[in-house]
Amino acid sequence: MSEVAILPAVNAFLQREHGHYINGISHPGQGELRPVVNPATAQQIAQVHDGGDEEVQAAMAAARQAFTGWASMPTLSRGALLLKLADALEQHREELAQLETLCSGKLITLSRGLELDQSVAYLRYFAGWAGKITGETPELSLPSFHGEKYRGFTTREPLGVVVGIIPWNFSIMIAVWKMAAALVCGCTVVLKPSEFTPFTMLRVAQLAGEVGFPPGVINVINGNGGLLGPLLINHPDCAKVTFTGSVPTGRAVGSAASALAKPVTLELGGKNAALFLNDMSTEEIVAGIIEAGYVNQGQICAAAERFYLPAEKFDRVLEVLCQRLSSLQPGSPLDEQCQLGPLANRAHLEKVSKLVDQARSEGDEVLCGGGSPDLPGYYYLPTVLKVRSADSTLMQQETFGPVGSFLAYQDEEQALKQVNDSPFGLAASVWTHDLSKALRYSEQIKAGTVWVNMHTFLDPALPFGGIKGSGNGREFGSAFIQDYTRLKSVMVRY
Ligand code: NAD
Repeated sequence: MSEVAILPAVNAFLQREHGHYINGISHPGQGELRPVVNPATAQQIAQVHDGGDEEVQAAMAAARQAFTGWASMPTLSRGALLLKLADALEQHREELAQLETLCSGKLITLSRGLELDQSVAYLRYFAGWAGKITGETPELSLPSFHGEKYRGFTTREPLGVVVGIIPWNFSIMIAVWKMAAALVCGCTVVLKPSEFTPFTMLRVAQLAGEVGFPPGVINVINGNGGLLGPLLINHPDCAKVTFTGSVPTGRAVGSAASALAKPVTLELGGKNAALFLNDMSTEEIVAGIIEAGYVNQGQICAAAERFYLPAEKFDRVLEVLCQRLSSLQPGSPLDEQCQLGPLANRAHLEKVSKLVDQARSEGDEVLCGGGSPDLPGYYYLPTVLKVRSADSTLMQQETFGPVGSFLAYQDEEQALKQVNDSPFGLAASVWTHDLSKALRYSEQIKAGTVWVNMHTFLDPALPFGGIKGSGNGREFGSAFIQDYTRLKSVMVRY
């Protein structure tokens, strides 16, 4: 096994003093220095200055000032800049992928092929919306007494400055979902990356400046979410909040924004289910479970954590699954052959371990994994839990780690009820060769996205977002337009 060589550009970037990107300029700021740790080694790789009120005021003022020019720029010019940024990300693919892997522990192959390549695809997708965001011209029915006529139409106006709050699991792609949607609609943005992954969006913002984005259109502030979040949300120039992250933080963000009647999009966690029907072979079920639950060590918001398997295949599937998962060797995520990287940070590792220990103490059976290998980084072995019942803690609570909870069912209808018996509804999947059942069950499953014979894949053309406790609003597709614009009605007498 051998690691890819870190590019000189990455080393040079890490050695600089870092903080924020405001009004087209990189500012280290003067706040406290926060260590940024490589989760594969538990070693500090760089530091970043925390932002505070001063940086928030500067970033919001820059974004407000840039808004007028950006909103009135010809829409195709905005689209052209997004395309240029996509090209720049493509050119800097390896540099950004390495930065992502060093900060989040994501396998380098995933950082390149998923994080970067998808970010490029989303940027191009949103660029394609330039010139296509339109209102309507409905027929009016006002009576005419003296021959006068009426014409009414609607336009979509950009909201203003959008505050985007980003988690650590896809530090570029999720930021791009928010940023590109806002920008193509004519909004400007202030982004707040996770404390654990502060660098990639700083670099993306610099690249945006280099390809010609006007100063102030994209701003990035790093630091403590508990401090910066409220400062940004409560700022009078914040016209909209878009948040992706955990349920508790999302609820706080939602309350703060709603108290000020500000529109808010919440993409929160879940406890996603995968339902396998009996017509699938053991091999198909095992492959499906790994795809649904264990990619990126389960640190994908749409990943499945609740698995419902037909009783007659249950034991055999779990036996083969455990063999397969146990064969994954933990290693350096910078190694292109590595299949099992670390969790993204120490706090997350502790959370996952604690939840599995709790499940064990409550009587759930750990069939494989259930602990960390003897390595310095924040590794946790892929874990299979045979749970006692649908009431087990880990059938309710998100681990956001490589931990699947498995329950056998006798009756499909009963399994379907259990799939829906959750306070969350981000995503789910149903696996079968029976097309009729696939379509019927996908109609009945209560989730924002239902996959058939696949799980976790997203496409820019299909909206993504949750229902119930998993949030509100939709990213991409055409659905984003209503989240980043407001309708104006114009009526003319002539
Ligand atoms: P988190 O909620 O801890 O943090 C998310 C962001 O919120 C970070 O930038 C953080 O600094 C900031 N923050 C913290 N406190 C805040 C506050 N009081 N006000 C405003 N912002 C605050 O989440 P995380 O641990 O970074 O990410 C993991 C979670 O994200 C998981 O629960 C996962 O399911 C969820 N997630 C959801 C989606 C989705 O699209 N639905 C996608 C990815 C991740």
